[in-house]
Amino acid sequence: MIVKLKKGLKVGNSIILDGNKEENLPVFISHAHEDHLPSRKTRAISSSLTREIANIRKGRELIKADERLQEVKVYDAGHVPGAQMISFYINDKKYLYTGDFSVNNTPLINGAKPVKADILIVDATYISSEYIFPDQKEVIKELKDIIQDNDKKIIYIFAYSFGKAQTIASWFDKYKIEYYVDESIYKINKVLNKHGYKLKGKNIGDLRITHKFLKEGSVIIAPFNKRYHVNGNSLKVGVSGWAIQPWFKYQMKLDFALPISDHADHRELLKFIEKVDPLIVFGFQTNKKVFEETIKKELGIYAVGL
Ligand SMILES: [Zn+2]
Repeated sequence: MIVKLKKGLKVGNSIILDGNKEENLPVFISHAHEDHLPSRKTRAISSSLTREIANIRKGRELIKADERLQEVKVYDAGHVPGAQMISFYINDKKYLYTGDFSVNNTPLINGAKPVKADILIVDATYISSEYIFPDQKEVIKELKDIIQDNDKKIIYIFAYSFGKAQTIASWFDKYKIEYYVDESIYKINKVLNKHGYKLKGKNIGDLRITHKFLKEGSVIIAPFNKRYHVNGNSLKVGVSGWAIQPWFKYQMKLDFALPISDHADHRELLKFIEKVDPLIVFGFQTNKKVFEETIKKELGIYAVGL
């Protein structure tokens, strides 16, 4: 019924979720992260923001779908700006597909709210009980302290350029912390601001060149791949869901690793699935065995890992 494709999922013979077009099926793209985008120009159901970000990031155009699929509804998925969940009916059964999702509100986005469905297809990245994230506000407080305690250094904050970078930026805006962003992040912020967001970070240009001119006390948000381009008197902070694992800080050669995730964690997933109250739940981006055992044990719902 639900088939995992080389890219994305196919539900019956009805819809492709976060993958490449097949036959003449409609395609839903939940958000503009690369691993969810089709490999070529595609007509897809998606938010207009997802389409625009997809177009600047990869040049892989998303075109607005014609509304031939009936009873389709979309909802905020949290995760990143523009991310959506989708519900639709096949043979009188209601399906809910979350895409990547988060239930947490941030200054930037509203978290996903559960929607009742018969069949749930859920992002279960962090289903394992080892993944319980601290409150985001607390982590940001820690980050504020790190910045304050190191005002004689140049502080680099490394994060994914779409999603985490803007989450941190929105907290900085809220707390009136001045900061720069690498041009790759600035490009995305410009699109977001066109869509009503109000991100303030100044463009520092390409950090690989401009890091030479930074002054002590500057705070810069940049993507992880630029972490080798820093000045001597600097402090490197990485922000990621994976920072909950002790290896992350050392492997990424960071001074601090702070766990902020754009995905639901173990407890949030269980609560969300319980509220959707499906007959069956399919989990993707997950350890199949852990997913199936955890859901059956904790919720008594029939679960299939994809
Ligand atoms: Zn994503």
